[in-house]
Amino acid sequence: MVERYIRDVPDFPKKGILFKDITPLLQSAEGLQECLDKMAAAVDPKSYDLICGIESRGFIFGMGLAAKLKKGFVPIRKRGKLPWKTASQAYELEYGTDHIEVHVDAVKPGQKVLLVDDLLATGGTMEAALKLVKQIGGVPVATSFVIELGFLKGREKLKPTPVHALLKF
Ligand code: AMP
Repeated sequence: MVERYIRDVPDFPKKGILFKDITPLLQSAEGLQECLDKMAAAVDPKSYDLICGIESRGFIFGMGLAAKLKKGFVPIRKRGKLPWKTASQAYELEYGTDHIEVHVDAVKPGQKVLLVDDLLATGGTMEAALKLVKQIGGVPVATSFVIELGFLKGREKLKPTPVHALLKF
């Protein structure tokens, strides 16, 4: 069901990339509900305290899940966006590197965290997010995605943290 709401957009944002557009899923009341229900069921909510979402589509699904499960939400943002003291992690882009950041006091030492993003491709972004959560004393319990591009083998990079994805391409 969820799969039929994912739109493939060829050559976006550049030639050769098949972009998985989740906006039709967000638009559909039934599709969105099913997606959040399945994400909520994928990892036992009792096993974590907080949800971390990665900018920007990770905010949408992470926040939806947090509201549904009555958990707190922590935004992991691109460099320079967060106003308070931050911890930072670099990750590889196709050309050069970028950074993601989190407030140093966003997760209390020992708190268990579920990390959420819309899509797992090479795994570089989520790998950096896992390091970031550990850097501020959090304990990653699992990662959760709507979509996994299996052929890029991103989940290898996230070991030993369990990886959950609703749809695999
Ligand atoms: P990666 O670090 O390679 O796993 O890339 C993951 C991030 O890039 C996620 O935040 C995705 O939203 C975005 N992304 C990468 N590839 C795609 C794609 N084919 N379609 C949509 N989003 C993508």
